[in-house]
Amino acid sequence: TPGLELPEHQRICVCVRKRPLNQRETTMKDLDIITILSGSMVMVHESKQKLDLTRYLENQTFCFDHAFDDTASNELVYQFTAQPLVESIFRKGMATCFAYGQTGSGKTHTMGGAFSGRAQDCSKGIYGLVAQDVFLLLNSSTYKQLDLKVYGTFFEIYGGKVYDLLNWKKKLQILEDGNQQIQVVGLREKEVHCTEEVMNLVELGNSCRTSGQTSVNVHSSRSHAVFQITLKSRGKLHGKFSLIDLAGNERGADTAKANRKRQLEGAEINKSLLALKECIRALGQNKSHTPFRASKLTQVLRDSFIGQNSSTCMIATISPGMTSCENTLNTLRYANRVKEL
Ligand code: ADP
Ligand code: MG
Repeated sequence: TPGLELPEHQRICVCVRKRPLNQRETTMKDLDIITILSGSMVMVHESKQKLDLTRYLENQTFCFDHAFDDTASNELVYQFTAQPLVESIFRKGMATCFAYGQTGSGKTHTMGGAFSGRAQDCSKGIYGLVAQDVFLLLNSSTYKQLDLKVYGTFFEIYGGKVYDLLNWKKKLQILEDGNQQIQVVGLREKEVHCTEEVMNLVELGNSCRTSGQTSVNVHSSRSHAVFQITLKSRGKLHGKFSLIDLAGNERGADTAKANRKRQLEGAEINKSLLALKECIRALGQNKSHTPFRASKLTQVLRDSFIGQNSSTCMIATISPGMTSCENTLNTLRYANRVKEL
């Protein structure tokens, strides 16, 4: 497979991951309309109708840093996305990895935030894989002498508000001080000493994330989950890896008939995803102005969008079915814009 290593200068990596057709799609005879070509190209076979009502397939291709088909494991996806960024946080860098896509396309599966009630199941996702490499490097001869401590935080942004997933969804305030430093006031930060302790935090946060709601999936799909692994040296920030399971990007049919609350949620999500795109693009272009104030999501990630030592990867997850075609095309277009400079 080409290009395992990320070039030093490349600060934005955009990848696509296709999931397999699921039981429901197979039962309703949905068709797989996605072909992954040569590890970096995605072809969408869109069904269209002529004036005389005969149908035909229109092919569209998109090119990314990597494209993973439905046989790719989380480990493989990790190797090409978040893994090349891990070491940067030991060199005082800020790394970020986003999962972007429609609800049900595999964001949570990829990040490793699926709540199963068993911590070891989460270890197969990016949260666990990053933690594993962080502790490997921490104990390596190169970085041991830095005497770094590792902390984990986990919070959710829902409707423009921040909730602490390590503290029973306590609602938190965001403050910006005179030096433009953003603080999530009172965010619970737990020191961790090994991968297993990180996985326990993930499990705690996930159980918090999916509890206390009448419609569990609706809520978690409408919120951004932010898991951060922070390195500190003598109490001061040294480096940070932010792993973000974004809210579902779907729009349209389901929001048209939805109630007012859903519409407001949708508008808020839209706003934050637009702001996110602009902030990542600004990072790639070394722009002096980063529009991070446009949403709570980009505000809390401000540190990661400024400075010379920031790097980002995005994993756009797509559903293979014809019934998801419109959402899939939206996801691919968004991802395309993020990487296009
Ligand atoms: P999202 O978080 O984007 O809403 P999920 O990660 O919850 O989507 O995935 C929806 C369902 O599809 C889950 O049951 C999940 O286990 C399954 N799934 C997602 N991606 C994959 C994959 N690459 N391989 C196998 N199953 C997957
Ligand atoms: Mg999810």
